[in-house]
Amino acid sequence: MQQITVLCPLAVDAYDYMAPDSLPVGTFVRVPLGRKHVLGVVWDSPINQQLDAQKLKPIDQVLPLPLLPQQTIQFVNWVAKYTLSKLGPVLKMALNPEIEKISKHPIVFDTPRPDFKQLDFSEQQKQAIKQLLSLRGFNVALLDGITGSGKTEVYFEAIATHLKQGEQVLVLLPEIILTTAWLERFKDRFGVYPALWHSSITAKTRRDTWEAVRSGASRVIVGARSALFLPFQNLGLIVIDEEHDASFKQEDGVLYNARDMAIVRAKQAPCPIILASATPSLETYCNAENGKYQHIHLTERFKGAVLPEIELVDMRNKEKGPVRFISARLAQLLQEKLNQHQQSLLFLNRRGYAPLVLCRACGEKLSCPHCSAWLTEHRKTHTLQCHHCGYTRKRPDICPTCHEQNSFISCGPGVERIAEEVQTLLPQAKTATITSDTLNSPKQFTNLLDQIQKGEIDILIGTQILAKGHHFPNLTLVGVIDADMGLAGGDLRAGERTFQLLQQVMGRAGRSENTGIAVLQTYSPENLILKALQNNDRNTFLTEEIAARKLLKMPPFGKLAAIIVSGKNESLTYKTAKNLALTAPSMPGLEVLGPVVAPLAKLKDKNRYRLLVKATKNITLQNILHPWVNRVKIPSSVNVRIDIDPYSFF
Ligand SMILES: [Zn+2]
Ligand SMILES: [Zn+2]
Repeated sequence: MQQITVLCPLAVDAYDYMAPDSLPVGTFVRVPLGRKHVLGVVWDSPINQQLDAQKLKPIDQVLPLPLLPQQTIQFVNWVAKYTLSKLGPVLKMALNPEIEKISKHPIVFDTPRPDFKQLDFSEQQKQAIKQLLSLRGFNVALLDGITGSGKTEVYFEAIATHLKQGEQVLVLLPEIILTTAWLERFKDRFGVYPALWHSSITAKTRRDTWEAVRSGASRVIVGARSALFLPFQNLGLIVIDEEHDASFKQEDGVLYNARDMAIVRAKQAPCPIILASATPSLETYCNAENGKYQHIHLTERFKGAVLPEIELVDMRNKEKGPVRFISARLAQLLQEKLNQHQQSLLFLNRRGYAPLVLCRACGEKLSCPHCSAWLTEHRKTHTLQCHHCGYTRKRPDICPTCHEQNSFISCGPGVERIAEEVQTLLPQAKTATITSDTLNSPKQFTNLLDQIQKGEIDILIGTQILAKGHHFPNLTLVGVIDADMGLAGGDLRAGERTFQLLQQVMGRAGRSENTGIAVLQTYSPENLILKALQNNDRNTFLTEEIAARKLLKMPPFGKLAAIIVSGKNESLTYKTAKNLALTAPSMPGLEVLGPVVAPLAKLKDKNRYRLLVKATKNITLQNILHPWVNRVKIPSSVNVRIDIDPYSFF
């Protein structure tokens, strides 16, 4: 009998078992765990070798499945160590839950054809392609191109080259459900659609795709962040499109940033990785500027289209009259575009009708009984909803506090309210409101794109779901209803995020022969970020932002980790958070701030406190956090989560 280590895709670390023979790492086995019998994978070196072999349970059986690739095992180990997560949950992301049901029939995947179609490129694009094709081995390239510069077609050429070399390619996209247009472009270039990997594919597709990636039959995989954990055998290139996008950071379960982990995965392969963006993240931009990454520029819009003209509308000098969220200037432009049969987009990153309802008689603001958050009014469904936990109730006719009838008024706008205002201002316009509430399948999105193409919609009203990558040739006006919205957050990336989001939204305008115009409605027209956007001056914005972060030693000039302590019992939760602060290690370059009540003080009935750990770049935070948190007694009813490189500061 041999002592082996087995890892199961559950909320556990690896355990030791006895096996009749020595089994290679990566072998799939079935083992007893508690009262259950579960699937596991033979893992690296035994962790508890001092354990008495007599006390170890034998494995149930060896499963007749191909080995889990060595690189996948290394990657799972790396991610768990970096994110301070248990190994089991990371392995879970790398496995297909129905791995034992591998299809008996051979799985046929269409192979993209690198020579299917030759595209026309500008001189600048040709130059960028040449640079991308010169990347060998592990190498990070930032493909930094303005909106409409044809970045996608440029990296398609890199994909074609790696396909010709017989390698596999992984492309990560944010908001995978909305990638219809991207997929069409891929098919146009390569003759077939790529294989997809995201949460909405069927169990059978998931099973077949996982196996086809493992066997090497599937050559190009396009997916959401979890695709990074697929068992590639022969990875030759990774592309991260919209690399700055915050959705690459997973905010539940294992807290990891798929962009950063993709770089680790590329290093392991080893293979090149392309980070594409019109508004690179500050981290990536600094790495490109200091020469760590290759910096490839695309500064011209493809086929001569020009960037939109940008106007700031000062909302402080509003005309008297009824409360309006669309300024006279924006209304006038909407009318002009309507007359010219061109399309407009109104952007407001807030779902529903109003972010708050308030009793006019007693001032009561309706909030969620489970979270410290106001309820958002959704008129279409006649409900009030909590956007944090999903709690939903009917809009009450009588105030629960003062019992006044019909006393609730809606405060502030959401997209539904903007749509209503458009109907009043421009009754003849055909509008569509697009949010994650109204759009939940790729098919719905295809239908919508179709309607837009055919000119059946004059004015689109939507949230950030509309900001990304879509090409609407006849769209020439973008109106940002509340340009100040993201600036209020005050967290580390508030400015950066606002700049990126607004630049992307504005980039939807005038992507073909018609020049576009973008209007930013603001109460702070002197704001530096808005000024930089208006002057299309990314450099000034980045220079200021870099200087500020340097001064405060914030990422990428320092390291951050957040510790979120939550629990139903408020005093116990606070005591635990306080204990963590009191036992914090003291060393030069390390600073522990807090605990403070989290901005979202209560979430799903749990009270929340936060600590922020700030360190200089030479400190490996993981080495400090792990023993520190383990030293503190954490009551079973209290949850402590460590978020390395936090993106969310709620
Ligand atoms: Zn009241
Ligand atoms: Zn709630």
